[in-house]
Amino acid sequence: MTEKSVLIVGAGVFGLSTAYELLQDGYKVTIVEQSDQIPSESSSSTDISKIVRADYSSAVYSKLAAESIADLEKNWTEAGFFHQCGMVVLGESDYAKASYKHVKSMYPEQVRLLDQSSIQDVLPKNVPLNSLTRTAYQNKASGWIESGRATAELARRCEEMGATLIPNFTVGRVIWSGDNDRVVGVESASGEVLDAALTIIASGAWSTLLDDQINKMLLASAQSVAMIKLTEEQHERYKDSPIVINLNTGIYMFPPTSTRYFKVSKHHAGYISRERNAPVSIDTKREQLGEDEPPLSISKIPSVMYDELRNGLKEVYPEIANDSSLEWKTRMCWYCDAQNGDYIIDYHPLSNKSLLFATGGSGHAYKMYTVLGKLVKQRMDGTLDAEMSDMFSIQRDTEQVPVVDKSRLDTVRRDFSVAFMAEGQQQPK
Ligand SMILES: Cc1cc2nc3c(=O)[nH]c(=O)nc-3n(C[C@H](O)[C@H](O)[C@H](O)COP(=O)(O)OP(=O)(O)OC[C@H]3O[C@@H](n4cnc5c(N)ncnc54)[C@H](O)[C@@H]3O)c2cc1C
Repeated sequence: MTEKSVLIVGAGVFGLSTAYELLQDGYKVTIVEQSDQIPSESSSSTDISKIVRADYSSAVYSKLAAESIADLEKNWTEAGFFHQCGMVVLGESDYAKASYKHVKSMYPEQVRLLDQSSIQDVLPKNVPLNSLTRTAYQNKASGWIESGRATAELARRCEEMGATLIPNFTVGRVIWSGDNDRVVGVESASGEVLDAALTIIASGAWSTLLDDQINKMLLASAQSVAMIKLTEEQHERYKDSPIVINLNTGIYMFPPTSTRYFKVSKHHAGYISRERNAPVSIDTKREQLGEDEPPLSISKIPSVMYDELRNGLKEVYPEIANDSSLEWKTRMCWYCDAQNGDYIIDYHPLSNKSLLFATGGSGHAYKMYTVLGKLVKQRMDGTLDAEMSDMFSIQRDTEQVPVVDKSRLDTVRRDFSVAFMAEGQQQPK
């Protein structure tokens, strides 16, 4: 391999964004992916939608997300997968207050506080809204991305730029040199070896399986998502609605897709499997939703999560929550949590810069669509800003199980158990 060559493990948004950035700088890039399709239906970077928001309590993430939004507007509009529908943030937590301050300073014209009457103007007309009395603001700069489609498009552009993409290649181990002072490549589960001057592990929640150091720093936490198929009449009324996130409960919801799927989920500590490293824990069985849909699959969620999602939805759109004729599809998706919710973009300390981790998305990395690759490149070039260099460092307290970031209210993770999983197509009560 030439000096400027790199091997990336994982074709999620971390891996592909990194590939995209390095290809522009003349690197020879090989990406290996365990799935036969991109996005992999088990990855975090699939699904019908992810929020793209600069609404963070951290100034660093706010700025990075604003950079991403500007890039999506400038370079990816013709791809048609970014929808800047705006977002309504409910809640009076410190996180909400700090977030408002950051976005108000970046988008003075697009951000405003809402009271009970102005909130009615922002949300869909003729919808029997519950009394939304709490503090709220609107940020018109936020939106959502068709994540499954956008991941496929990023992969397509990487291949067009010369990347070699190898599907069905599951890395079984990273190969260290005889002196154990550098990584020289990877070996697949079936024994195939690929040499590499630089290996980048971007395998999301599976990263823990490839290295002891990273295994101590990451935790896969399962989150529950529901997709509700609206009627045509409801779709017409809700299609121009903003994203709504309630920072008092963690419940968030999107406007319906063109195929009428309305998505609701909860950003919380989530569920963990006690079998921390077992691949089965991050690969709950799924079925495809249907041919007419972008990548989206269904699986069961804990029955208690049905109630939480439905009750959270009731607070905003009771009409949808209470309509027992609507079909609910569900899925579980795994966050890859790192300590304090900060991404890990750093070299293995003993690898002499031959092994780099780009992972630890912690439930909020998708929106950094092309920014992630820029951060990786800056780490490689030694130009990462000092504050981010610390934030994304691998040198963290590895004694503790990763602590969730402040955007999630609960801190205690629940136990993942098949016993309380509900049926995937259960109707709301
Ligand atoms: C329910 C849910 C909602 C979310 N909502 C948002 C949101 O609204 N906004 C936002 O910004 N972010 C959101 N996120 C977070 C975001 O999706 C993730 O942070 C991001 O997608 C992580 O990307 P990744 O590349 O690290 O991991 P992944 O997308 O999981 O990619 C890792 C890839 O590596 C492959 N792989 C794993 N092991 C191997 C191996 N040994 N060999 C080869 N390949 C391998 C996998 O198959 C996979 O394709 C959400 C996540 C979930 C689960």
